Amino acid sequence: LSNDLRNLSFRTFDKKQKREAYERQKGICPHCGKHFELEEMEADHIKPWHEGGTTIAENCQMLCRNCNRVKGGK
Ligand SMILES: [Zn+2]
Repeated sequence: LSNDLRNLSFRTFDKKQKREAYERQKGICPHCGKHFELEEMEADHIKPWHEGGTTIAENCQMLCRNCNRVKGGK
């Protein structure tokens, strides 16, 4: 692992955390209310990182790609 990857990884949810959030939501995207497969979703910080949210499973939600893009795009 390069330093870059290590620095990045503490802000990124790992597979286990994503699956935990996915199962907690039962595969439902909280934004559009539709069901998706895990592979079709992206992890998002419930409390944004810049507001002090940490990269733990409890702060992870899975959004479908479309919602995650809409949310992030300004
Ligand atoms: Zn969605």
